[in-house]
Amino acid sequence: MSEKYKYTCPKCSAGLSQAGEVMLTMTRTTGEKTNLILHPQPGVYGYYCNPPLALDDGELVECYCPYCWENLGSENFPNFVSLKLHKLDGSNVKVLFSRLVGQHKTFIVNEEFTEKYGEGSKKILSAVS
Ligand SMILES: [Zn+2]
Repeated sequence: MSEKYKYTCPKCSAGLSQAGEVMLTMTRTTGEKTNLILHPQPGVYGYYCNPPLALDDGELVECYCPYCWENLGSENFPNFVSLKLHKLDGSNVKVLFSRLVGQHKTFIVNEEFTEKYGEGSKKILSAVS
C-alpha cells in the first residue's frame, strides 16, 4: 500500500487516506449523504460515491470530515474543499479540490501558490484570489 499521498483533516488532523484513496463525507443540497472517494494524486480526476449516488454535472456538493464533521470548504476559495497533504519530504501543503461536480480542478497551494493543476487554472485562480 502506497502512503505516498497522506491526507489529513485541517480541523482535527484525522487521517483521510484509506486504502490509497481519499474519503470524505458528502452531502447534496437534497439532503442525501454518501461517502465521496477521490483519487489521492492531485491532478488525477475521478470520484465515486459509496453508497452509490448519482450526481449532476455542475452540482455544488458539501464535503465534511467523516471524523469531526467539520465542513471542509475552503474559507478563501468557496468552491473548493481544502485538505492537508503531507508530502514525503515531510512538508505539508494545502490541497484544494473543486467541489463542483464535473469540474476537474485541483490546486496544490503552498505559500508561493506555485503549483497548479487543471485546465484553465490560471483563470480560476485569478477569479478566486
Ligand atoms: Zn476532522
